[in-house]
Amino acid sequence: MSLKGKTALVTGSTSGIGMGIAHSLALQGANIVLNGFGDVDGAKAHIAATGAPVDYHGADMSKPAEIEAMMAFAAQRFGGVDILVNNAGIQHVANVEDFPVGRWDAIIAINLSSAFHTQRLALPGMRQRNWGRIVNIASAHGLVASAGKSAYVAAKHGIVGLTKATALETATTGITCNAICPGWVLTPLVQKQIDARAAAGNISLDQARTDLLGEKQPSLQFTTPEQLGELTLFLCSAAADNVRGVAWAVDGGWTAQ
Ligand code: NAD
Repeated sequence: MSLKGKTALVTGSTSGIGMGIAHSLALQGANIVLNGFGDVDGAKAHIAATGAPVDYHGADMSKPAEIEAMMAFAAQRFGGVDILVNNAGIQHVANVEDFPVGRWDAIIAINLSSAFHTQRLALPGMRQRNWGRIVNIASAHGLVASAGKSAYVAAKHGIVGLTKATALETATTGITCNAICPGWVLTPLVQKQIDARAAAGNISLDQARTDLLGEKQPSLQFTTPEQLGELTLFLCSAAADNVRGVAWAVDGGWTAQ
């Protein structure tokens, strides 16, 4: 499979799942636009090592005007976005009555509304070319809930709904829109939860990791960013031309229970 000549924008791709997906797309030759905070130079070097053309835009996904600037940058740099992966996300854990209002707003903006903005800006070009792939990184929490994660669960259920509506609006075109719903993936986002669990229970990090998996994920194995990259490649392939509006769990059996 070659993605040479296609341009992929992956939000939140300086770390974790987003970087893994960007790497898989780069290995197939796609032009890559990275986004996110932290070690930008490290992420760029990691992708550039594949030989794929790569650039970066530092838009904050909670700010619509910055998202517009990022989409304009991708169009100007590579001629438009063919593959849009909405991946940027944050987490905060607290019960509803204790949930900081600012954290609620940030999670809805970054984990949900940003995907509306990138989609509304990417779709006109995709329609013109009659080809596009939109892959929304939802979560097992897009299908089922956990206590303490109201904003995250609401945003992830929301992005599954957005995925279905977009898939219907594009159903007769060469554009598809699908969601991937990972269970636990060992990234900085989850490491923070393991650290908190170890501190709260006064247990080792190893024990906290085992407990975290045991509670939800029957396989007792983490899903890897590479596996999610491979699934994204499948969704970009011709074999997936008629895969539309699915929420595809990669969760070690979490939501089968
Ligand atoms: P991560 O913390 O490793 O990466 C998050 C990325 O988003 C980083 O590149 C970060 O810089 C970026 N980001 C955060 N806030 C941003 C903002 N305001 N603007 C732009 N970029 C921003 O986390 P991850 O685990 O790789 O998570 C990636 C996605 O996968 C998230 O949407 C998350 O909800 C989802 N997910 C993760 C897991 C898991 O177990 N790790 C499971 C299911 C779903």
